[in-house]
Amino acid sequence: MKDSLKKLRLATIWLDGCSGCHMSILDMDERLVEIAQYVDVVYSPYVDTKEFPKDVDLTIVEGALSTDHDIKIIKQIRQNSKLILALGDCAITGNISALKNLFGSEAVLKRGYFDLADINASGAYPSQIVPKLLDKVLPLHEVVKVDYFLPGCPAPSEAIYAMLKALIEGKEINISDYTRFGK
Ligand code: SF4
Repeated sequence: MKDSLKKLRLATIWLDGCSGCHMSILDMDERLVEIAQYVDVVYSPYVDTKEFPKDVDLTIVEGALSTDHDIKIIKQIRQNSKLILALGDCAITGNISALKNLFGSEAVLKRGYFDLADINASGAYPSQIVPKLLDKVLPLHEVVKVDYFLPGCPAPSEAIYAMLKALIEGKEINISDYTRFGK
């Protein structure tokens, strides 16, 4: 890649995912050093920024939308990002995160906090501070426009590298050359 390229303002976030897709980003290994020359990581679980910044070039989103907080943050991301990349099957289809849809949020909460609880002295659901579960887990594109989809569980690091390289260089990429759903 050329030295003269402007640095891409990059954000990454995981919503309702297992962090496996973020582990795949780290699995780029030594290629991270190459990519790091061309990006500024302005928000991510890898850094300590508290507020989602403005003027982000690309946000990579792992995970589905499961809570009212997820809806709020994905809309904020859309407002402040030129491009959104849905990373992995949870972000694209709901995947594992959407298994809850078979039962509904009330049944899942009851199972977790009452039926299987060894200790729940107050006999209550969690504090109101905890974000409210949606009735149905949603993939990103059902709430906001998504620019790129990179499937896989997890999304393969080769595909993440190829996608980032293409975006940095402003080139088109056929991501099906690198990945497929559920791989
Ligand atoms: S797609 Fe797979 S690896 Fe990625 S967040 Fe979902 S469950 Fe985890």
